[in-house]
Amino acid sequence: MATTTLPETEMIESKPATPKYVYFFGGGKADGNGKMKDVLGGKGAGLAEMTNAGLPVPPGFTIQTDACREYMRHNAVSREVDSQMEAALARLESLQGQKLGKGSNPLLVSVRSGAKFSMPGMMDTILNLGLNDQSVEALARRTSNPRFAYDSYRRLIQMFGNVVLDIEKSVFEEIFDTKKKQKKTKFDTGLDAKALQEVIAEYKKAVKKHAHRDFPQDANEQLVMARDAVFRSWQNDRAKHYRRINNISDDLGTAVNVQAMVFGNLGDTSGTGVGFTRNPAIGTKEFYGEFLLNAQGEDVVSGVRTPVPILELEKVMPDVYNQLRDITTRLEKHYRDMQDFEFTIQDGKLYMLQTRNGKRTGLAAVRVALQMVEEGLIKKEEAIFRVEPNQLYDFLVPRLDEKGAKIEVLAKGLPASPGAAVGQIVFTADEAVEKAGPSSQRKHVILVRAETTPEDIHGMEVAVGILTSRGGMTSHAAVVTRGMGKCCVAGAGDIEVDEKAGEMRVKGQVFREGDWISLDGTTGRVIKGRLNTIPPKADDPDLQKFMSWAEPFRTMKVRANADIPRDAIQARAFGAEGIGLCRTEHMFFAEDRIGHMRAMILANTEKDRRAALKKLLPMQRSDFAGVFRAMDGFPVTIRTLDPPLHEFLPRREDLMVQIAVLEVTKPKSSKLKELRTLLSRVEQLHEFNPMLGHRGCRLGITYPEITEMQARAIFEAAVAVAKEGVKVFPEVMIPLTATLKEMANQAEIVRRVAKEVFEEKERTVEYLVGTMIELPRAALVADEIAKEAEFFSFGTNDLTQTTFGFSRDDVNKVLPAYIEQGILKQDPFEVLDREGVGQLVKMATERGRITRPNLKVGICGEHGGEPSSVEFCYQIGLNYVSCSPFRVLTARLAAAQAAAGEKMQGEAGRTK
Ligand code: PEP
Ligand code: MG
Repeated sequence: MATTTLPETEMIESKPATPKYVYFFGGGKADGNGKMKDVLGGKGAGLAEMTNAGLPVPPGFTIQTDACREYMRHNAVSREVDSQMEAALARLESLQGQKLGKGSNPLLVSVRSGAKFSMPGMMDTILNLGLNDQSVEALARRTSNPRFAYDSYRRLIQMFGNVVLDIEKSVFEEIFDTKKKQKKTKFDTGLDAKALQEVIAEYKKAVKKHAHRDFPQDANEQLVMARDAVFRSWQNDRAKHYRRINNISDDLGTAVNVQAMVFGNLGDTSGTGVGFTRNPAIGTKEFYGEFLLNAQGEDVVSGVRTPVPILELEKVMPDVYNQLRDITTRLEKHYRDMQDFEFTIQDGKLYMLQTRNGKRTGLAAVRVALQMVEEGLIKKEEAIFRVEPNQLYDFLVPRLDEKGAKIEVLAKGLPASPGAAVGQIVFTADEAVEKAGPSSQRKHVILVRAETTPEDIHGMEVAVGILTSRGGMTSHAAVVTRGMGKCCVAGAGDIEVDEKAGEMRVKGQVFREGDWISLDGTTGRVIKGRLNTIPPKADDPDLQKFMSWAEPFRTMKVRANADIPRDAIQARAFGAEGIGLCRTEHMFFAEDRIGHMRAMILANTEKDRRAALKKLLPMQRSDFAGVFRAMDGFPVTIRTLDPPLHEFLPRREDLMVQIAVLEVTKPKSSKLKELRTLLSRVEQLHEFNPMLGHRGCRLGITYPEITEMQARAIFEAAVAVAKEGVKVFPEVMIPLTATLKEMANQAEIVRRVAKEVFEEKERTVEYLVGTMIELPRAALVADEIAKEAEFFSFGTNDLTQTTFGFSRDDVNKVLPAYIEQGILKQDPFEVLDREGVGQLVKMATERGRITRPNLKVGICGEHGGEPSSVEFCYQIGLNYVSCSPFRVLTARLAAAQAAAGEKMQGEAGRTK
């Protein structure tokens, strides 16, 4: 099936003086070919390629995407497009021996959109074009099937009326439903030819009324109007939205395919269907799909009738079935990928209407890639690109079992942390703990909050999933749950959470504590009721084999962000090569620690503060020891205390309520006194901009004893664990520095304490002191800071916040509008902003390495687990990325792909 046509790039270079707008296909030959997706769109390129391969494709022509761009610029196409289309139509008519909409055997065509990237159902299509008051009679005679002819005509008026003339669908639906009622039938098939003629008459009246013109009887006029409407559909809201979420450029435009109609609804030897050459859900090598006899394409997908498994076709039309198998096998071999195809059978003859690389789950992507290497269809180096890094989540998380289940989606939020969760609603963290019960008989609860705070951590710990109505991809709920590998849907704005009333309101329904819901953290869906889940398989042998092919390419290391030993063990199991960020503050929220932390904060003197810190020391030490053990042989980066202190104290409003109650009930109690002291400290600590306030290294500078205690815990743990024979490499990281002096101040404390501990314990361990780069100033003076910092780790959550000046916790108020209006393409907290924040990262790396050529540089913001950001980090020469444990696999594959892609490009360059 090799084609002799020139590849796309060369075609563009040798563009003739008059641009070629229209590409013909038919009679065993096509002007275009399968490589020309940019020009012909995916559908057009596929039709050309299949035609060239001699497959049975109804002939037609593709009007290329340039014409659409022209239409977008001028609201019209040039005369040249019209004249090339007229010529192509004449060629089609002569090939078919028919005239569009004329004569005893009128030519009818479909007019379909088809962009470079598939955008299923987003743009418009018109079928049966060419029918009018005369040609419908000819079709009726020719097929001896008047009912079929009138049904086709009324479908045309309906589609044309809606798509081209902008008449609401409901106008036609009402007429049709009224007719069905009149004729006392529930089904379309219950309307006979006469009834359909009546429908047509009413449809025409409706067109006149709403569009102030008649339905065009001239088939050529129909064609021009339909073509332009399909071009316009590139700009409809659905299409725009789809492009936004799939990151497809608005400038590409769609092609239009005009193709001779074939009918699957001509009787019981006709039919239509869709299929895949392998199972797209689980990747098994099986012929997979469904079809309907005596039906048009839309009947298969609309759910009006239940389609039949494609294997049944073998029983009813064995020859057609064998031909279809043969063709699709050839297509798969030709494209060297699993195909998703559409076909129609007209009077026992098979026609192929579409083929394209099929979309598939992560499970299927891995399995199909492995199979294709084994079958000799692709090489291992190609196979590693056949899986999107994010698709590997499918192996690590439970999934909802949707088979046979009734799904009612209540709302859609951000897919903040993947997987599935099914549980009973609770509205507070305490309720979660109470309702979930002891760990031995844990009940499944889902914590539903407007948004979570660090204080909810105990509830989050026991809940199977988290749902919030506010917050973005780096909100507290999102970051924490991703770290836990726990399902989370965040920022589901349609949901109203009334924690006081214990109610969640959505879609006019009220849900209370104990009601069941199901979350799909991979898609962001909130589903009513109790679905089943399918457990994860992290040790899947197919996954391991696949990764063993990808890994040899990878040069950049992948570490994990983990705060406690359990997460570190999990991260290691997923292949983490160290910890890139251990957020020590998370250790302070546990029930047995928060009291000491609060005592430390409330202390008025350094002495009292030191006394409280002393109580925290052994706890931190044992946590660090656990993390070191889990990461035996790998580096562990531990960050000194970062968040503003008020985060460890109760909320001001809550305290005021408690005090007000006690003032009435127990005015003399010691509890009241205690709460008043707490409130006054909370008020003292209050800041207008806490994220720009007393946090990061500023805490360690104003309270050096905190850094001292943490450094001591780190080095005591390191020495103790080293004595057990574990290889430890602690890296102490100072957060939020902006100046060399801040760095020098904190580094001095860390190095002094290290020396003390090593002397006391008579043992030394290798360690580094470095910093996070989270502020633009730090990036600008990175060469200075590197005089003291032995490594850099980019905290791109804060660096994005401080570079854009967007609050990472409130950005969701602005972001949807920004994305909608195209001001920003993506959420910069999710995908690293290469042009802005990325340049700071690149510059700081270069400047840091001027001072210290071997400076170790990594990233530990949420971007460290996002494939395109990982690719960027590789390109600018970072040593490692660090991400939540459940994103480690994704980052490993993304890093391998980045390196393999560069290697292959280099090799291709050399061969040229
Ligand atoms: C960051 O700012 O990117 C970072 C990793 O730190 P945190 O999210 O804890 O502020
Ligand atoms: Mg930070």
